[in-house]
Amino acid sequence: MTTIKLHNTRTRTKEDFVPISADNVRMYVCGPTVYDRAHLGNARPVVVFDVLYRLLRHTYGADHVTYVRNFTDVDDKINATALARQQAGAEGTLEQLVQERSDETIGWYLHDMGALGALEPNEMPRATQYIAQMIAMIEALIAKGHAYAAEGHVLFAVDSWKEHYGELSGRSVDDMIAGARVEVAPYKKNPMDFVLWKPSTDELPGWDSPWGRGRPGWHIECSAMSYELLGESFDIHGGGNDLMFPHHENEIAQSKCAHPHGEFAKVWLHNEMLQVEGKKMSKSLGNFFTVHDLLEQGVPGEVIRFVFLQTHYRKPMDWTEKKANDAIKTLRHWYNQTLDVDAAIEPDSEVIQCLSNDLNTSGAITRLHELSAQKELGTLKSSLNFLGIDLSRAIEWGLPSASDSVIAHYADRLVLARKLAMQSKDFSEVDRLKAAYLAAGLEVRMSKDGVELVPGAGFDAAKLEEV
Ligand code: AMP
Ligand code: ZN
Repeated sequence: MTTIKLHNTRTRTKEDFVPISADNVRMYVCGPTVYDRAHLGNARPVVVFDVLYRLLRHTYGADHVTYVRNFTDVDDKINATALARQQAGAEGTLEQLVQERSDETIGWYLHDMGALGALEPNEMPRATQYIAQMIAMIEALIAKGHAYAAEGHVLFAVDSWKEHYGELSGRSVDDMIAGARVEVAPYKKNPMDFVLWKPSTDELPGWDSPWGRGRPGWHIECSAMSYELLGESFDIHGGGNDLMFPHHENEIAQSKCAHPHGEFAKVWLHNEMLQVEGKKMSKSLGNFFTVHDLLEQGVPGEVIRFVFLQTHYRKPMDWTEKKANDAIKTLRHWYNQTLDVDAAIEPDSEVIQCLSNDLNTSGAITRLHELSAQKELGTLKSSLNFLGIDLSRAIEWGLPSASDSVIAHYADRLVLARKLAMQSKDFSEVDRLKAAYLAAGLEVRMSKDGVELVPGAGFDAAKLEEV
């Protein structure tokens, strides 16, 4: 079994991955807040952790991995969309409209991420399904002196965990207070104390609790859902590095204080951010777009995924149109090469080795280029499938295939070259074209009536593009 090495944010080193139980390797990844379509940046953690999920399944067996990714369906932004709809005349209570918005967004999300070749996690809990467990966890934190109720709110007392708070992100509480934009509230004992529970209005979603009608804070959701589905100690916790502080720091504080005998997450993995054409994605710069937008424009999901995989997850990645176009050319070439080839049973062992080295996806892609050059096409195909890139739909991308019109175009070029050669008596261009067509797997039949090009078994339309 290949040893998987992963860079653990907690220890800041690349470590050999040793699961708590090889029978059930457990991973939790923070999922989206479901108020709107996923933008391209949101798709990065999905693809990164999908590759890790596939690698874990390959290494430990598909039935021995549990991947949980939540949906945050309690949030001011979801409430705001529901309110806007109600004001625009939509029927139903605010609570119903909130639910509608969440359901709709989850449907979009699963569709768009599926188009990127992401497998669905084993469990996709929604925060609203785990409110009772969150309340129980908050009560336990109060009972242990780690949290306190004040004015309808419950706050986590950071001072009760002061020695450890900040360990993941490498900051001390004092540094954090100095540098952070914390919400100052009169009921907070320490300005860093964060919300576990807060009041809700009568119209907005809310739940009865010992502290009155209200709703959970964001951080407690992940602590409660990971505990319920994976237990007090599990193997991997992932998310974007924008979540490291305060979200992950707060998850650790809550979970370790509520379950002091547990380890919570052993390994923390964080993906770097995605930019667009060298700039942070933002609505004001006009470079903000969703995965759906790209798919609608005809950029295939496989191409988006392939571009993502070219950058290591711990490096910032830049989405550019050029990368997307280059990816189409490469995948088109591999599609033509593997069209009539059966996939090998196993993916290439060097591809697996690259991925096992802290998810070196760019190294894996370099290896795919080698497999293509060495004509190890069955293995190329199985390795592409393993990486979540299924080229079987590539025919729908508007690729130049062995279609008559494409071949007719190249035949016309040869007819023209021959005509010019008859005049100049220089046949070098004719010879060059003939050699190139042969190399692309076309049989060249020339007669005085014209030119006929017949694709053979090894025909590769991509090679014609360079002619
Ligand atoms: P949110 O719905 O904002 O909580 O984000 C969902 C996920 O997308 C989190 O794991 C974020 O870290 C991640 N994310 C958001 N923006 C980007 C970005 N520009 N690049 C990479 N990941 C991002
Ligand atoms: Zn989380």
